Amino acid sequence: MSNILCSKAYQEFFLKLPDNDISLSDLFQHINRTIAPVANDLSIARLDLSFQAPKTFYDKEGKNIHETVYESGPYENAPFSAEYITGDNGQVCITAYPMKGITWSISEEEDINFFLKNLYYITGRTRVMELMAYTAIADQMTRLPNAGGLERYCNKLISLGMFANYTGLFINLKNFKYINQRLGGQVGNMVLCEYAETVNKLIQPKDYYARLGGDNFLALIANEHLQDFIKATASITIKIPLGATTMTFDITTNTGMYAIQPTDTMHDMMNKTSLAMVAAKASLTEDFVWYHPSMYQQMIRRKEISNTFSQALANREFIVYYQPKVYLDNNTLCGAEALVRWVKNGSIVPPMEFIPVLEQDGTICMLDFYMLDTVCKDLRRWLDAGIEPVRTSVNFSKLHLHNRQLAEDVLKIVNKYKLDSKYIEIEITETSGYEDFDTLNNFVNTMKKHGIRISLDDFGTGYSSLNLLKDLNVDIIKLDRSFLINIENQDIADKIIVETIVHMVKELNMQVVAEGVETSGQASYLRSIQCHIAQGYLFDKPLSHDDFTKCLTGERLYNPSL
Ligand code: C2E
Ligand code: CA
Ligand code: CA
Repeated sequence: MSNILCSKAYQEFFLKLPDNDISLSDLFQHINRTIAPVANDLSIARLDLSFQAPKTFYDKEGKNIHETVYESGPYENAPFSAEYITGDNGQVCITAYPMKGITWSISEEEDINFFLKNLYYITGRTRVMELMAYTAIADQMTRLPNAGGLERYCNKLISLGMFANYTGLFINLKNFKYINQRLGGQVGNMVLCEYAETVNKLIQPKDYYARLGGDNFLALIANEHLQDFIKATASITIKIPLGATTMTFDITTNTGMYAIQPTDTMHDMMNKTSLAMVAAKASLTEDFVWYHPSMYQQMIRRKEISNTFSQALANREFIVYYQPKVYLDNNTLCGAEALVRWVKNGSIVPPMEFIPVLEQDGTICMLDFYMLDTVCKDLRRWLDAGIEPVRTSVNFSKLHLHNRQLAEDVLKIVNKYKLDSKYIEIEITETSGYEDFDTLNNFVNTMKKHGIRISLDDFGTGYSSLNLLKDLNVDIIKLDRSFLINIENQDIADKIIVETIVHMVKELNMQVVAEGVETSGQASYLRSIQCHIAQGYLFDKPLSHDDFTKCLTGERLYNPSL
């Protein structure tokens, strides 16, 4: 044989090499099965291959392979070896042993050398393909599979008819935003990597765990060990070394779960698990929530709200209802809260159905300004008609605190109607973190300078403690209605809380408004603890503009014995 490239045996071997999607170990098996005719031509009885490559970002294990890829019978221990250095400083050595009784001539060794170099190129190409395939399906930061990897795995399970043996879990870390905000992105990334690695160790061989991006992960867990997985991942403790200390994090999640059905595609699974995850986020009690078809209906409703909001605002479909605030001393009107109503196709949509959607979209701020504008317009009209209005509060979403010129924007509207600022109050829901806290205080101080009052809404439901209150310059605390619900059942704990809040708020020269007062029992209890202002169904529900005007003119009064 003079030219190996022209040999029929080599051509056949070469043409049979797989084109794509092959791993190194697959390649060696393939060579083992197909190389015999070429080896015979070259009188090779045995071929050894060693492959050493360092650990790199793309190959976290590195390579350390020593394999006999072919052996056909007895051989002489007079091998011919060729060594190559790879681009990442790895080393490949291929060794051929002659058949028993054979000694290769110089020109035969040249053929073998040429053949071994071919094998090296084939091996090298396969390795590069393997690395490329890995990077295409691996998340660069955590090194878990990414969404591409997940898609491949789903397709594989679907083609094997095994997809429905699994439950899909869409996992979102709770409070990860705060870790990032307070400790910085670098620590955030360390937490993510450590968390990913810890959970990955809990994954059984045929299950799958991928990072979708951000703090979102997706697990495919075989139904038989789902409960074990839930138990193991309900709370994961990780430790991150930070300088001389170690920080400990207990990571809990909002997880949406869906039992995959035989006809489902990966998209079905993703849609349903993510809807369930959103429901888990909204749930106050459950971290792991199963998908339910009603979630889909709800998603459609939310979409419809998002899509129709701008036009509805332009059409002035939002109207203001006014709920009276009453002095408990004599049951007379002392203020009002403006509450939005959406008149949609002739019926009224309550705010709890659309406000959370607008909060999520960020469009709530437009609505709040619209409400403030409408309230100011109504106040101006009452004044122009000789009717003395009362101070009216408008609800402002916490999202406004991101607006650097919030104070200017508010004042612009109030000034447009040439109103005395004593008529205006802004309600902001209790803040959830220290960062919000500072921004809120700045806003409060600016508003104060201009005579506009600020009240802290739903007090007692959020995170701030009574302790925080002394540093906050708000004028009014609105005590959440949840505290009043059990007051008449002699709930000692609630009584202590209410009394402490009322007492402390007065010490701090703030006012308390009790929300959701529904019974005379509650009203007399509030009087007995010196809480002077109340708002609730006992006096009135939120009223239309015309009905509320009757409160202002004295045509609608409250019974002093209530
Ligand atoms: P909120 O600010 O706590 O408003 C008080 C809610 O309690 C109102 O519900 C009111 O109708 C209701 N309520 C008043 N008295 C009683 C009572 O005695 N018993 C009971 N069970 N409920 C009572 P509404 O009008 O459905 O508003 C719900 C929430 O929607 C409001 O809670 C507020 O957070 C939000 N919201 C309403 N209007 C606006 C707005 O213009 N902008 C923003 N950002 N949020 C608004
Ligand atoms: Ca309110
Ligand atoms: Ca409230």
